[in-house]
Amino acid sequence: MRLILLGPPGAGKGTQARRLVERHGIVQLSTGDMLRAAVKAGTPVGRKAKDIMERGELCPDDLVCAIVADRIEEPDAAHGFILDGFPRTVPQAEALEQTLEAKGLKLDAVIELKVDEEKLLHRIEKRIAETKARGESVRADDNAEALKKRLHAYRVQTAPLIEYYAKKGSLRTLNGMASIPEVGRAIDAILAR
Ligand code: ADP
Repeated sequence: MRLILLGPPGAGKGTQARRLVERHGIVQLSTGDMLRAAVKAGTPVGRKAKDIMERGELCPDDLVCAIVADRIEEPDAAHGFILDGFPRTVPQAEALEQTLEAKGLKLDAVIELKVDEEKLLHRIEKRIAETKARGESVRADDNAEALKKRLHAYRVQTAPLIEYYAKKGSLRTLNGMASIPEVGRAIDAILAR
């Protein structure tokens, strides 16, 4: 099974992806997580990505596409994967299509989590408070200023993918404001078709 989860920051992509990983034994490929790991490890990719991510802007397409193309080659991705946070621009979607085509692979679905943008700030504030309560460090881009930029990047650079995948007939849109289990059931219903 190969899926894309689309939606703005705070839409619940990561939460649903982790649930799908448990239920279907496929891997979650979160470009955000991969980039954060690269930043932490101080790799050349991480050094390029650090400041861009902290500002809440998008990293260059070629850099992100190369990471994903390599990651899809790993043996644990052979049974399928959920792309969380990728593609985020039309050129990334086109690159993904080429990568998959070269391997004879197809996407099963592109699932959009549609959310009320005014509620997103509140959700992210909650995530920050919960992270702090667990004694973990807060993401460098989980602050009001970077979040504003992340939402702007979503609207301008990522939202066009909704139209892109709708035209291809692979888009399924769900209400991301429903509860976590409800969204999970709606995703399962799509996948069972
Ligand atoms: P969010 O919670 O905003 O969806 P992510 O963890 O997916 O956050 O991504 C955090 C940051 O990592 C982004 O703001 C961006 O700088 C970078 N990033 C992640 N995925 C991509 C991508 N596909 N293309 C470009 N930049 C990316």
